[in-house]
Amino acid sequence: MSSRDVRAISERDLLSEAIDALSGDPEISEMTAAELDRQSTTLQLIASENFTSEAVLAASGSVFTNKYAEGYPGRRYYGGNRIVDQVEDLARERARSLFGADHANVQPHAGASANLAAYMAVLEPGDTVLAMRLDQGGHLTHGSPVSITGKTYRFVAYGVTAAGPDGSGERIDMDQVADLARTERPKLIVAGTTAYSRIIDPLPFRQIADEVGAKFMFDAAHPAGLIAGGVHPSPVGVADIVTFTTHKTLRGPRGGAVLCGADLAKSIDSAVFPGLQGGPLEHVIAAKAVAFREAAQPAFREYAAGVVENAKALAAALSSAGFRLVSGGTENHQVLVDLRSFDADLTGQAAQELLDAAGITCNRNQIPGDPRSPFVTSGLRFGTAAATTAGMGTAEMAEIARLVGEVLRRPGDDSKRDEIRAEVRDLCSAFPPYPGWSKLRGDHLTSGS
Ligand SMILES: *Cc1c(COP(=O)(O)O)cnc(C)c1O
Repeated sequence: MSSRDVRAISERDLLSEAIDALSGDPEISEMTAAELDRQSTTLQLIASENFTSEAVLAASGSVFTNKYAEGYPGRRYYGGNRIVDQVEDLARERARSLFGADHANVQPHAGASANLAAYMAVLEPGDTVLAMRLDQGGHLTHGSPVSITGKTYRFVAYGVTAAGPDGSGERIDMDQVADLARTERPKLIVAGTTAYSRIIDPLPFRQIADEVGAKFMFDAAHPAGLIAGGVHPSPVGVADIVTFTTHKTLRGPRGGAVLCGADLAKSIDSAVFPGLQGGPLEHVIAAKAVAFREAAQPAFREYAAGVVENAKALAAALSSAGFRLVSGGTENHQVLVDLRSFDADLTGQAAQELLDAAGITCNRNQIPGDPRSPFVTSGLRFGTAAATTAGMGTAEMAEIARLVGEVLRRPGDDSKRDEIRAEVRDLCSAFPPYPGWSKLRGDHLTSGS
C-alpha cells in the first residue's frame, strides 16, 4: 500500500467519523446528507464555487476550531499557541512560495475582508480609488454604495469597451483607466473582476499607477487558481497588493488572503488584526495550508489548464446553441452569456430558475450595458472550476450546453424539464465529487429527488 493510499484512507476515516458524530443532531445530519446529494446529482456551474479535496474538508473540520489565537505567530495574546503558530507559519510559507510573494497574510475570513484590509492599509477615509464598474464585472467590495467600501472611500469606476464585431470589444477599457487616473488622481487603482471572462494583464495597470503615483491592488479572487496553476499571468511582484479568495478556482476552504511586498507587510497585518478582525479561524488556516500545498503539485497545473479548456468548449457549444457570449468567448473559467440573442423576453432571473429546476446550477448576471436590473438581468454566468474538479471534460461541456439550450428553449414544458433533470442526474452519476462517500449519504433519506 502506498503512502498515498494510507493518507486517503485516514482522511476518509476522519470524515466518516465526523459525519457519524453528526448523527446526534438529526436535523443538521439530514441537511448535510441532502446537500451532499444535491452537490452530487446536480451540475455545479457557479463560477465562484469548487469542490475541495477531502483533506481540505478534514482540516476545516478539525480541532483547530477550538483555539483562540489573536495576533500572529510568535506574538499572540493567549497561551497554548505552540501548534497553531506552526500551522499559520506553514500556511504563510506555502502561500508565499506558491505565488512567489514576499509576505502573506492568511487570516482574512473572506475575500471581502481581504479587500477591506488592503484598503485600510493604504487609504484614509474619503480617498479616491479607481476600480471596475459593478454592472460591468466588478465586485461589491469595489465601491458599491451598499458596501462599507463605497461608504468609506470615493470610488471612481472604469468599464469595458463597447461590443464589437466577431467578439472584439467588451474588454477592460485601458484608455478609460488611464484617462480617469490622470483626471481623478486616485490613491489606489484596483484591477480584478467577478464577472469577466478574459485574462487581466497587470502590467498596463502598473504603468498607469506609476504615472499618476497611485498604489496598485490586484483582486485575484476568481483567477487565483489559474495564476497558481500557471495559466494566467501573475500580478505578484507587479501589483503592490494582491488579494484573493481561497475557495474559488484555488479550490481551498472558504476564506481570503493578502500578498504584498515587505514594504506593506506591517500595514496589511495590522489592518487585518486588530484593524478588522478578532481571533483568526485556525482550522480554516490549516485548510488553506492544505490547499496551497495541493495547488503547488504538478496535477494542479493540469487542472488549471483543464478548467480553461473546458470553459472554451462550453463557450463554443453555447455559442453554437444560439447564445451570444459577452466578449465573444473566454480565456478563464467563466462564460458570460447574453440571453437576448437567444430569446429577447427571457430574463436571467427566469433562466436561472428554469435551469435550477432541471438540476443545472448557475447564476444570473448583468451583462455590460444591461437594460435590466441586477436582480432581473439579461445574462447568465457559468463556470467550469467545479465540474473540472469532478473530472468532466470537453465532451461533457458540449453535453451541458445542449441541456441548457433544451431547457431554455421550452420554458413552460414541465415534462421536458423532468426529462432533462434525469439526464443531468445520469451525467453527474459518472462524476461524483466525493466518490467514496455514497455509503455515507442519503441512507435515511426516503426520496432521491
Ligand atoms: C468573490 C469575490 C470577492 C469576495 O469574496 P468573499 O469571500 O465572498 O467575501 C472579492 N472580490 C472579487 C473580485 C470576487 O469575485
